[in-house]
Amino acid sequence: MTITIPRHLLPADGRFGSGPSRLRPSQLHYLRQADPGILGTSHRQAPVRSLVARIQEQLLTLFRAPAGYEVVLGNGGATAFWDIITYGLIEHRAQCLDFGVFGGRLARAAAAPWLTAPDVRTARHGELIAPERVSGIDLYAWPENETSTGVAAPVHRVAPSIDALTVIDATSSAGGMEFDAEQVDVYYFAPQKSLGSDGGLWLALLSPAAIERAERIAASGRYIPEFLSLGAAITNSRKHQTTNTPALATLLLLEAQLEWLLGQGGLSWAAERTRRSSQLIYDWAEASPIAAPFVARPAHRSPVTATIEISPRVSVRDLSRTLRANGIVDIDAYSGIGTNQLRVATYVSVEPDEVARLLTCIDEVFPRLVEYAC
Ligand SMILES: *Cc1c(COP(=O)(O)O)cnc(C)c1O
Repeated sequence: MTITIPRHLLPADGRFGSGPSRLRPSQLHYLRQADPGILGTSHRQAPVRSLVARIQEQLLTLFRAPAGYEVVLGNGGATAFWDIITYGLIEHRAQCLDFGVFGGRLARAAAAPWLTAPDVRTARHGELIAPERVSGIDLYAWPENETSTGVAAPVHRVAPSIDALTVIDATSSAGGMEFDAEQVDVYYFAPQKSLGSDGGLWLALLSPAAIERAERIAASGRYIPEFLSLGAAITNSRKHQTTNTPALATLLLLEAQLEWLLGQGGLSWAAERTRRSSQLIYDWAEASPIAAPFVARPAHRSPVTATIEISPRVSVRDLSRTLRANGIVDIDAYSGIGTNQLRVATYVSVEPDEVARLLTCIDEVFPRLVEYAC
């Protein structure tokens, strides 16, 4: 069975996945012109180190970072940063919010044998749970956008940084949601989601309190593998380097994206655009007889990851397969989330108009799949 969507209805770019996510053509142009000047050259020499320095500067500007904050980077993606937190930022005990797969993974990493078992607060998928100040907690952590469920959380301090660090996983929200950097000590992410680059790196905005904590733990004699040493990453990042070799293409794609974002108007422009794109989906789902938002409370719905339950009259596997055959890819739910769910990334590289086209295509295909099912 094949269903062909008329060409004039299709989005120009069919990539709506949560990560790696779509690249804009001008990023690839930028990548091409960096060969041979930057690509294929040493990361210890000036051309790559200036590239890293520009990215650090761009991120400080984009995030409106207060004085004393630094951008640190290294290899291994956000997953490596969970272990970095465990080795190098939690002093005794963390509180971790688990309202989806990604928050849950940090909670598991934070159960390391040299720490007191974390205070894990869990919400059902599709719901949010708030942090709560508890004595003995020296680090509070949660994702700003839980990419698995499409729940977004506010970024705010639970305690002053002298008592506890506030550590936010912004992998799928950095560059697509507004936040106040004064309210965080660590805002970390990998660049292949909201920031439309490629995978392999982690980047983190660190407050002076976070740097002080990392340096104190590094000096304390605790065993820390070099690859996961935040102290080493801070030292290298100050020289615009990484502890080991980074993917230069990922850095170049990121620089091009940050330049574009800043040129468009920065975080407030980006946040407005992702809000508009996601709202198209939520409004469509609320009005549609075939769809409903997965996240019940509008205030908890993510502007960058829209999760939608689809009527059981059609299996999302068939829907997704049909759309894929027409070039619309990666809108499947995160494994195990929801019952018959689609998940659409509305990152800043996705034009709202493209989202509208995607919805038209779903409306076009759905009744025909119902027919086939009968
Ligand atoms: C994708 C994702 C991660 C994992 O990122 P990797 O770079 O693959 O390690 C972590 N946290 C969130 C919120 C994510 O969306």
